[in-house]
Amino acid sequence: MADKLTPRGEDFSKWYNEIVQRAELADYSPVRGSMVIRPYGYSLWEAVHDGLDRRFKATGHQNAYFPLFIPMSFLQKEKEHVEGFSPELAVVTIAGGEQLEEPLVVRPTSETIIGYMYAQWIKSYRDLPVLINCWNNVVRWELRTRLFLRTAEFLWQEGHTAHATKEEAEEETRRMLDVYSDFARNDAAIPVIPGRKSETEKFAGAVRSYTIEAMMGDKKALQSGTSHFLGQNFAKAFEIKYLDKNNELQYAWTTSWGLSTRMIGGIIMVHGDDQGLRLPPKMAPIQVVIVPIFKSDAEKARVMPVVEQMRELLAGAVRVKVDDREETPGFKFNDWEMRGVPVRMEVGPKDVDKGSVVLARRDIPGREGKAFVPQAGIADAVRDLLAQIQANMLKQATEFRDANVREPKTYEEFKAAVDDGFARAWWCGEKQCEAEIKEDTKATTRCIPLEQPGGSGTCIHCGKPASEIAVFAKAY
Ligand SMILES: [Zn+2]
Repeated sequence: MADKLTPRGEDFSKWYNEIVQRAELADYSPVRGSMVIRPYGYSLWEAVHDGLDRRFKATGHQNAYFPLFIPMSFLQKEKEHVEGFSPELAVVTIAGGEQLEEPLVVRPTSETIIGYMYAQWIKSYRDLPVLINCWNNVVRWELRTRLFLRTAEFLWQEGHTAHATKEEAEEETRRMLDVYSDFARNDAAIPVIPGRKSETEKFAGAVRSYTIEAMMGDKKALQSGTSHFLGQNFAKAFEIKYLDKNNELQYAWTTSWGLSTRMIGGIIMVHGDDQGLRLPPKMAPIQVVIVPIFKSDAEKARVMPVVEQMRELLAGAVRVKVDDREETPGFKFNDWEMRGVPVRMEVGPKDVDKGSVVLARRDIPGREGKAFVPQAGIADAVRDLLAQIQANMLKQATEFRDANVREPKTYEEFKAAVDDGFARAWWCGEKQCEAEIKEDTKATTRCIPLEQPGGSGTCIHCGKPASEIAVFAKAY
């Protein structure tokens, strides 16, 4: 049997890397910084894809594809954008054995090429809004990388919309932030804090950036999805203009929003424990694993027909797998715990006699999480149990998060708070003050939450008047 995982409390980062490897989610590629996503990890990504794609379509978006290569000059058209992305660009200068006249950037994000195309497609107010999403890969040359969390190439979706008015574009930006929050809470069982990014932390080229921030198991923050109001910055850089109802030329208003394979890192770090991964049922590639238990061929002959019957009853309702490998039940239990399968069903000779099975929950360890359940009506029982587990995992993550968000009254308390969790505090909003806090504590402003207490206070660091509360934490 494989060695135990390094305990989370002992070395969180080591624990994380071990889970990614042992649950066969991803592996390192020979190219430094890039990641191979293995089938089990990829099926998790497919769950993210499906959960979001359904929501994107329900809010009127369509999928399209834009090319991987972008002319270098495109990136230079929006000043803040090029400054933000330059250090991370991968650039193609030779192709087909010849030096290219104009270097091509491997897309770090597609605002520029999409802006160029939108300028061709959008002529009149009747062409608006344009609501397009892309599922693709992007490259940002990172020196310090970690599987799923920070890799040179990653998978994501990027939405790009164009609107006739500022109000519509702002509404879209917030709508997609809500879509991300809803997905994170209801599918990934991750409670998130939706908020606005500070000027320093916003997307390069955006007027305003919004984010959902989640607390990981080591009490650090993970920016889990972002939605940007781009104003007319890209419309002006790329001449996205339309004739309004009065036949006057206007610049369009644009947005962009993205969520990436980082989300998988988030799921691992929010829910995982010392036994391995724990997957919320809605995300789990396998929701129920059936482990047959027998000591002889005679027992096997009695157990296996019931196992097959259970599989058939469950197959239409949930994602089920029978583990008939020639390994001991103990090995199988550990293996599926490592992979985070929400429910384990055990079927042994005694269960066959009693007309029942054992269901063991991954979210509640030991005896407490085990129950004997009648074989009759098993599909309903399992469906109910999965719904309970889904709700319980969100509850557990929310309780953990809430227990580790503090509201310091002094800067000393603030420093202690961000050393071991999140701090919610009045903040003046000034860049200088933010930089000093970061220098001093390594904590950054994660967001200015949409939900504000109202009123005003004094900045936790510099003591100047503050009209908003910000959330501070160390972050991935
Ligand atoms: Zn301040």
